[in-house]
Amino acid sequence: MRHRRKTKILATLGPASSSPEQIRALFEAGVDVFRINMSHTSHALLAELRGHVRALEQETGRPAGVLIDLQGPKIRLGQLKGGKRVLKEGERVRLVRKVEADNDTDIPIPHAEVFAAMKQKHGLLIDDGRVRLRLFGVKDDTAEAFVEVGGEIKDRKGVNLPDTLLPVPAMTQKDRSDLDAALNLGVDWIALSFVQRPEDVAELKKIVAGRAGVMAKIEKPKALSSLPEILELADALMVARGDLGVELPPEAVPGKQKYIVGQARRAGKPVVVATQMLESMVTSPNPTRAEVSDVANAIFESADAVMLSAETASGQYPIEAVEMMDRIAASVEVDPLYQSIIEAQRTAPEPTTPDAITAAVHEVTRTIHARAIVCWTGSGSTALRAARERSEAPIIVLTPSLATARRMAIAWGLYPVHTEDAHDMDDVVDRASRFAQQEGFAKPGERIVITAGVPLGTPGATNMLRVAFV
Ligand code: PGA
Ligand code: MN
Repeated sequence: MRHRRKTKILATLGPASSSPEQIRALFEAGVDVFRINMSHTSHALLAELRGHVRALEQETGRPAGVLIDLQGPKIRLGQLKGGKRVLKEGERVRLVRKVEADNDTDIPIPHAEVFAAMKQKHGLLIDDGRVRLRLFGVKDDTAEAFVEVGGEIKDRKGVNLPDTLLPVPAMTQKDRSDLDAALNLGVDWIALSFVQRPEDVAELKKIVAGRAGVMAKIEKPKALSSLPEILELADALMVARGDLGVELPPEAVPGKQKYIVGQARRAGKPVVVATQMLESMVTSPNPTRAEVSDVANAIFESADAVMLSAETASGQYPIEAVEMMDRIAASVEVDPLYQSIIEAQRTAPEPTTPDAITAAVHEVTRTIHARAIVCWTGSGSTALRAARERSEAPIIVLTPSLATARRMAIAWGLYPVHTEDAHDMDDVVDRASRFAQQEGFAKPGERIVITAGVPLGTPGATNMLRVAFV
């Protein structure tokens, strides 16, 4: 039995969730898309994790998405002597241009371009800004700094330099090699970190060439200023609040989140709200009230998906975190306010046949209280337009393309189902009814609304709406 939730859950795989048993438990708890963060994953492990998800999908018959998150030009610490260290406020520390520190005090940063670009008085933030340093003496391969805000630092934690202009490309050599490995294996979504310009997305799209969906992670102030152009090119967006809240003052992030989610929804492209959603569950079985509220608010904003990072990758309560998100979503989605907020934010259809049909589907479904909407689709494009309507009825995506079924797992309200090619329209109606009943969406005698493109098999040609009795 599938989860009836419309909002989707993304979970990041990591040391706490890499065995087939752990991944299965996450899937059963309600994960729709598994995220593999290439910042912490070898190609061998990538192949293994992806294999576990595919095996699970085959066994359960429920499509699951695999999202590969490319590190992008992210600056990270190297390896500290002993793996970690506590920095105290007011302490003076030394940064070195090395992969590995050879004494207890040096902090390694293995990026020559960072040492070349940093200047006196620039801030250097470690671990999503938890620890803050101020630079004072910068040389070619060392730099001195004061600790302004202390805390524990660990190997490979992220570094942000909000004051420093870094001349970095959108994709590093590592990203290109990770992308190659992912595309060779076959994955469903590729996310690109630190997108700054529309060209960054265009470059990735060109390489991916339709083999996966392309998601632009919005975590740079620069990306916000060209969001419409980025959204035009990308297949989906992520509100990457971890880095966004370091690059911008954290209090600016909620407004930007609303803006990004609103723009994506208007465009009919999936949008994921990410980072620190249930952060305290890394070490506690219960979230804070504020975290529950944060997840609920993202859902009220009508985000397609909410994401877990450390909670499932390295936390002590990965399953509990997914179950918590599932419960929050289920509870918000039946709140009478939710439906009215979502309905009020509906945007007008664009002047295309699929939009005219999906807008009509929304009205018809509401008027006759149809139990489900069924989109027969090859590419999934009509299913996304139907999701954009945010109808109350569930949307079953019947598709002969397994790749489409997997990719659609990320979008609001879509229940992807992989099926063989249909012979004709009667065959589509037959299968739609059967599936709606089998999955408990409709009982015999109840109605469903079906869309398809006739003749079948012509891509992007949705031109038909039909009401059928189950
Ligand atoms: P990351 O991206 O976890 O790869 O840094 C998400 C974010 O920055 O919020
Ligand atoms: Mn990030």
